Amino acid sequence: MSRRPEMPSFFTSQHMPCADCGASIRASECEDHTCSPERRLEYRLFQLGGEVATFDDGLSEYLESPQGRFAQWLAERERRTQGP
Ligand SMILES: [Zn+2]
Repeated sequence: MSRRPEMPSFFTSQHMPCADCGASIRASECEDHTCSPERRLEYRLFQLGGEVATFDDGLSEYLESPQGRFAQWLAERERRTQGP
């Protein structure tokens, strides 16, 4: 009786994050995907913010920064436009 090693989920996953906007997209839909400019900006800020937050050792500090506020504002706006 032989046991096959399990494939890492990374290889079996049909979804992959878009490098530009961070959206989770199906591999089969990859070519049809177009980035929303807002999402792309938010993703950028998220990446930048991640570095800032790590350096400043605190998320609250980041959230009070202009970058953090802008990211929150964007997130809030996205929720409103997507919501019912
Ligand atoms: Zn994208």
